[in-house]
Parts: sequence; structure tokens; C-alpha cells
Amino acid sequence: MPKIHNPKEEKTFLIIKPDGVRKGLIGEVIKRLEQRDLKVVALEMFHPNRAEMDNHYPKDEKWIRRLGEKTMATYVKYGYDIKKDFGTSDLLRVGKTVRGWLVEFMISAPMVKMVVQGVHAVDIVRKIVGKTMPYEAEMGTIRGDFSADSPALANTERRAVFNLVHASETPEEAKYEIKHWFPGQKIFSYKRFGVDE
Ligand code: ADP
Repeated sequence: MPKIHNPKEEKTFLIIKPDGVRKGLIGEVIKRLEQRDLKVVALEMFHPNRAEMDNHYPKDEKWIRRLGEKTMATYVKYGYDIKKDFGTSDLLRVGKTVRGWLVEFMISAPMVKMVVQGVHAVDIVRKIVGKTMPYEAEMGTIRGDFSADSPALANTERRAVFNLVHASETPEEAKYEIKHWFPGQKIFSYKRFGVDE
């Protein structure tokens, strides 16, 4: 018989990025997760090297091109010249440049990594975190309440968008990232009052 999946066991992976740590938002992020009945089941401060960070982000062309597409969308919306900042309008090359900036940013200072568990953990955490671009993120979300960064600004400064938090987008991505950042490490198990009993 296949194991019955318990929705309460869904796990996701979250990083408080260098800007989140440096803004003193570790407690605030955890508070927002816990107040939504989610459970932190693994937690650690870390400072990855370039190779570790590079292996966190997908390397497939589709993902990299998507980064380029998102960037292009903002440039079109605001009438900025993508060639001026990137030297090209090729979306794959733009995506590669952004990915490089992202890795540099993520190794620039210590971060906090955690595994978060609960019903629909992946989707709920993404909702709590808010849209990728802080200037577009709704108020009430972490990115919407504590940042106003935009790619238009970030890209003229040749850097990644500072958006405080990373959170897995799908259960498959969560599984990969948990294994990557907590290899062979214990994911804890406990009952939350009012949630599990
Ligand atoms: P999310 O982090 O919401 O899953 P993406 O997977 O699209 O978003 O992008 C990964 C990260 O890359 C973002 O969190 C952001 O820090 C950075 N980023 C995305 N697009 C751009 C861009 N156009 N310019 C600079 N940085 C970007």
C-alpha cells in the first residue's frame, strides 16, 4: 500500500538572504511563519561558498531564460534600455548575468536557512514572502513591508534585486533544496499546540 501523504507534513525551504539578516529581520521572518501556524523544523545560520550557492540555483536554460524574461518585462514596462545595462537583449545572456549577480549577492554575508513544515507549506510561505520584486509585492508580505527594491534600480547598479528572503517555489524544488542545504542532517519533529493537537 502506498504511504498516505499527510498534508501537515509538507515541507518547504527558506533562506533569510544577506539583506534580511543585515536589516535585523531574522525574528520578524520567523514570527510571520509561526503566526500562520507553520512549524520551523530545522534552522541554522550559514555563509556558503560560491560553489555551494551556484548549485542551489537551477542551471538549466529554461530557468536562466526566465530570469532574462522577467528582467526584460520590467525594462519594457518602464521604457528602460536593456542593451544599455546588459550590453545585449538576448534573454539567455541577460539571465546568465542576473544569475551571476545573484550568486555574488548570496555569498556576500551570512544568511539563515530553515525548513518549514505545515499544510500547503510551499504555497503559504511564498504568499507570506510576497512577489519577487519588492516594489510590486503587496503590503502585508515580508518583501512588501520591508523593501522597495526593483530590477530597474538593481540592474543599473549591476546587482541582484535585494528581496530579503528565498523560498522554494514547488514541493520538488523544496525537496532538492532541503537535501542540498541540510544534507544528512536531522529535520526535527514536534507537535504545535493548537495545530497538531
Ligand atoms: P523568487 O526568488 O521569487 O523565486 P526568481 O526565482 O525569479 O524569484 O529569481 C531569483 C532571485 O533572483 C530573486 O529572488 C532576485 O533576488 C533575483 N532576481 C530575479 N530577477 C532579477 C532581475 N531582473 N534583476 C536582478 N535580480 C533579479
